Formats: sequence, C-alpha cells, structure tokens
Amino acid sequence: MDFDDTPEEASWRSTVRSIIADNREALGRRGAGRGYDDPAARDRQALLYDNGLVGVTWSKEAGGQGGTPMQQAIVDQELSRAEVPGLVNLIGIGMCGPTVIAHGSESQKERYLKRLLRADDLWCQLFSEPGSGSDLAALRTKAVRTDDGTWRISGQKVWTTLAHVSDYGILLTRTDPDVAKHRGLTMFVVDMKAPGVSVRSLRQMSGGSDFNEVFFDDVEISDDERLGDVGNGWGVALTTLMAERMSLGGGGTDIGVGVGAVADHVAARIADLPDDRAAVTRQQFGRAYAESLAIRYTGYRQLSAISRGEMPGPEASAGKLAGTRVARDLADLSVRLLDDDAVFARDSGGDSTWQDSQASLPGLAIAGGTNEVLRNVIGERVLGLPAEPRADKNVPFRETIAVATGGSESAAKGATV
Ligand SMILES: Cc1cc2nc3c(=O)[nH]c(=O)nc-3n(C[C@H](O)[C@H](O)[C@H](O)COP(=O)(O)OP(=O)(O)OC[C@H]3O[C@@H](n4cnc5c(N)ncnc54)[C@H](O)[C@@H]3O)c2cc1C
Repeated sequence: MDFDDTPEEASWRSTVRSIIADNREALGRRGAGRGYDDPAARDRQALLYDNGLVGVTWSKEAGGQGGTPMQQAIVDQELSRAEVPGLVNLIGIGMCGPTVIAHGSESQKERYLKRLLRADDLWCQLFSEPGSGSDLAALRTKAVRTDDGTWRISGQKVWTTLAHVSDYGILLTRTDPDVAKHRGLTMFVVDMKAPGVSVRSLRQMSGGSDFNEVFFDDVEISDDERLGDVGNGWGVALTTLMAERMSLGGGGTDIGVGVGAVADHVAARIADLPDDRAAVTRQQFGRAYAESLAIRYTGYRQLSAISRGEMPGPEASAGKLAGTRVARDLADLSVRLLDDDAVFARDSGGDSTWQDSQASLPGLAIAGGTNEVLRNVIGERVLGLPAEPRADKNVPFRETIAVATGGSESAAKGATV
C-alpha cells in the first residue's frame, strides 16, 4: 500500500475538508456529550449524511454514496483530525445496516437504510442471551410461526447496547429446536416499540447505562420482517459478526481514545515529572505508540485487500485483540499521569475522558468476541491449530438442552425450547 494519496484520493480529501470547514460550527466538537440521547447529535449526523460523508461505501440503492473503502477511510481521518464528534449509531451503521444490505428484501432496504444512515432511526443488535454469549448459537429466544404466517417471539436478550433508545433491532431467534443448534435459527428485524417488548437498563462500572436486558413477551412480527431464509439465521448472523469485527478491529481506526490525544496528554504532563519517571513514561508511550502504528497499518492492509474485492480475513480478530490491549495500555498510562486528579478530576470540573476510557475498555475486550474467543479464532484459522472439540455438533438443539438440564428443561416446557 502506498501511504501517499493518489490524485483522486487527494481531491476527495480536499472535498471532505471543505465540507467540514463549511459546516464547522454546526458539526460541533468532540466531548460535546453522550451522543445518542442528544437530539443535536442526530442532527449533526443528518448534516454529515446530507453532505455525503456517512455510508460512503454503501451503494446508492442502499442510500449510500457508492464510494470506496479508501474514501471512507479518508472521511474517518478528516473527521477525526477536525475533532468532529463520532456518529451516534455505530452499531446500526457498522453491523445492522450491512446485514440488511446482504440479506434484506428490496422493501426492507428501502424502508430502513437511508433513515438509519441519517440517524432518523437508531438500531440495536439483539444476539446475546443470559446463556449464550460466546456460544451464540445456543440461544433460546424462540420464534413460532402462527397459522396466518406471522411469528410470535418469546424470550430474553441481554447486554443489548442502545436498546433503550433504539427504534429497530436485528433479532436472532430459534425457530427449530429439532436440528443442530446452528441450523435452527432465523433472523428478524424487530420494532423496538412493538407491544410485548420491554427494556430494562443495566448500570456499568463507568456510571453509564448504555446497555440493557430486553424481554420479548409474545411479540408479533410479520413475515415481511424476516431477514434471510427460515433456518439460515446463523449465516445472516455471521454477516453481522464479520461486520462487527471489521468495525471494531479493522480498517486502521483507533480503539478507545486515539493515540494522538494521549500523545498531547503525555506531552503536557511530562515536563512536570522527575527525570527518572519522565524517561520511563516516554518509553511506555513509545512502545504503545509503535504498537498502535503496527495495528493501524495492519488495518490498512485489510483495507487494501477489501479495495481489491477480497473478503476480510481473521486479521480483523487480531486487530481487535491487539487494539483493545494497546488502548488499555494508553488509558492506564494517561490515568497514572493524572495522579490525584485520576480520582478527583470530574469533581473539580476537569476532563474525565481518561477515567471514562479506563472504565469502559474492559467491556471492549468482551464485546464483539472476548479476547479468549478471538485467540481461538487466531489459533484455528491463522495458526492452523486443532479445532476445539465440539460435543454438540450435529446433535438436535433440544437434546443438548435436555443434557444440560438433566432432562428437566424439556419436561418443564412440554418439550418446547
Ligand atoms: C460493552 C458491551 C456491549 C455489548 N453489546 C452487545 C450488543 O449490543 N448486542 C449483543 O447481542 N451483545 C452485546 N454484548 C454481549 C457480548 O457479545 C457478550 O458479552 C460476549 O459475546 C461474551 O459472552 P458472555 O458475556 O455470555 O460470556 P461467556 O461466553 O459466558 O464467557 C465467559 C468467559 O468464558 C470465556 N470463554 C467462553 N467460551 C470460550 C472458549 N470456547 N474458549 C475459551 N474461553 C471461552 C470467555 O472468553 C469469558 O472470559 C456486549 C457486551 C459488552 C461488554
């Protein structure tokens, strides 16, 4: 990959810069609040969309710009450089939208995609359940088809980011417990305001409540809202998970607070440190900086592959794994440099970016695939190590539940899972 812009890329970069300059005030500055619960943040995203800077790689039919991954990367770089606040609906844009594009009907694409990009509607991803996170295909929320063709959904999801403010979600359900666990799943688009959907917030250690438990109590979904074929929910979910890993670990974007912001913070504080501590701090920052560059360039390599029409590979898992670790190192370093302010900055009216970052990064090492599971992916798909034993392969899901619960599950539920 050539790191200099081609003439076309340079011209796109200058277009993006002038759009940002023309709308500088209306676009706001980073740190301007929590985003999704602020109507002004949605207006800012609509402004970016209306100027062609959201959904750059999505086709025009999907409401996007029909641009290249490099054009999207340039937009990301320029928005970041200008300290424009991030988009409010990364889950919608990074995961739900690509899933609707790949598996949705024409009418679903028409109804949903442009509104999603403009942040007219917010979306969430309803996959995890209390008993199925890493082992996602073990989920139990069930969808039963009625005589008139509509579906009835019952069950519970958990850790659903933004469910409390979302208009729609992509919902993975079990439609057939009599086949092996991966084969009996079906995906739907669910209206989060439909009767029978209830959302209960969970409090995080950062103090925020960004994710939720979601309960489905006999919720009715029309068959028009099915995403992909009945029984092909796992294939649809893989599209979402690949998009998720790319948006978290691929493409050369920073995870957590960017290395540039930490560099400014380190530079501002280092002059006050005694010499020995200053030297160690420089070394620590230097190591994290070098690693973050390696991650960024690995991400660019992926972008180049995607630009050539190749599918992203397991490098995205490596990018996410390494990215969360370096982000953690940078946040640790920043908080250590704050000394007493690491505890009191918020109260004294100071900036709590570093503490917030410190408190939210452990979650990123879990969301979108835990570090342990990503290591398994790398072990099996990159290093060619033997696959984990899978005792439930080809076993009907109903039987795996009966084994796990000593048979009580099927008896208690009249053999419905
Ligand atoms: C900030 C945040 C946001 C999230 N947002 C969403 C969301 O919007 N939508 C959604 O559906 N979900 C969301 N999740 C849930 C997330 O996808 C799950 O937490 C994740 O998949 C792990 O599942 P689990 O919590 O059930 O842990 P488990 O799968 O029960 O894992 C427990 C521990 O066992 C380890 N482990 C499990 N299996 C293996 C294995 N095969 N090999 C080695 N170790 C293993 C795990 O690494 C972990 O340390 C979010 C989570 C977080 C933290």
